[in-house]
Amino acid sequence: MLGKKLVLALGLVVCVSVSLFAATMTNYVVNVGQGDGALIITPSGKVIVIDGGDSTSTTSKMMAFLAKKAITTIDVLVLTHPHTDHLYGLTTILQNKIVKAVYDPKYPATTVAYTNFKNAVAAEGCPYYQSKTGDTYSWDSALSIKCLNARSSVSNVNNASVVLKITHGTNTLLWAGDAATSDTENNMVASYLSYLPAKFLKVGHHGSSTSSGATFLSKVAPRYSFISVGAGNSYGHPAAATLTRLTAAGSLIYRTDQKGSLRCSTNGTGTYTIALNQ
Ligand SMILES: [Zn+2]
Repeated sequence: MLGKKLVLALGLVVCVSVSLFAATMTNYVVNVGQGDGALIITPSGKVIVIDGGDSTSTTSKMMAFLAKKAITTIDVLVLTHPHTDHLYGLTTILQNKIVKAVYDPKYPATTVAYTNFKNAVAAEGCPYYQSKTGDTYSWDSALSIKCLNARSSVSNVNNASVVLKITHGTNTLLWAGDAATSDTENNMVASYLSYLPAKFLKVGHHGSSTSSGATFLSKVAPRYSFISVGAGNSYGHPAAATLTRLTAAGSLIYRTDQKGSLRCSTNGTGTYTIALNQ
């Protein structure tokens, strides 16, 4: 009997310590080939998906990754902008998983791919919100989430990108979509300077030379840069000049084409734990 009580008491101690100290946020940049797909498990266990990669092949790499992580329900699904390398996989997810809310800039794209996505959102029947620059999101009470960019009327679709700054205690993360330097990064430096510092950066536009400008990077000052990029892609991503700028900014660089799906776990007290080949 005493033994049983001891086990119960130990169980209580474990429960208390889990609730107080293990408020981990897990951030995955999924190896979707040339494209973007991210999965975030928030401290309270909410599931956020940012982009779903391409799915020109018969199987979606993002779907396979969600299955591997036993994800069946997505609380928040974000499409940063309606390019197929971010979009296709989300349509598949909407058709196969429970999705509770969808956000995108509602850029007026008329492509078949985007129409299919919107039809899948309608079929799912969940709330569908337009993300706008300056939004704040209360997706998890342990997080502060600010939308630094999301625009529906820009000439370059990449600059529609939802850019999210997520603050988890003293941990800071910036998800840059495909935002370009010449427009969006400069806007954020001008309007959201205090939000830019982030130790973790999902590098903009697959490491393209037209993103990750020196001024922007000097304000973000990332320590860990994750680049989502396909091996041998025809765009030449990531650009050598971008890698040089990231290194000059003091960042370590991790690439999905070299290290597979990447994980960055944060504990809310400033620790970042990186894991490769997830
Ligand atoms: Zn892209």
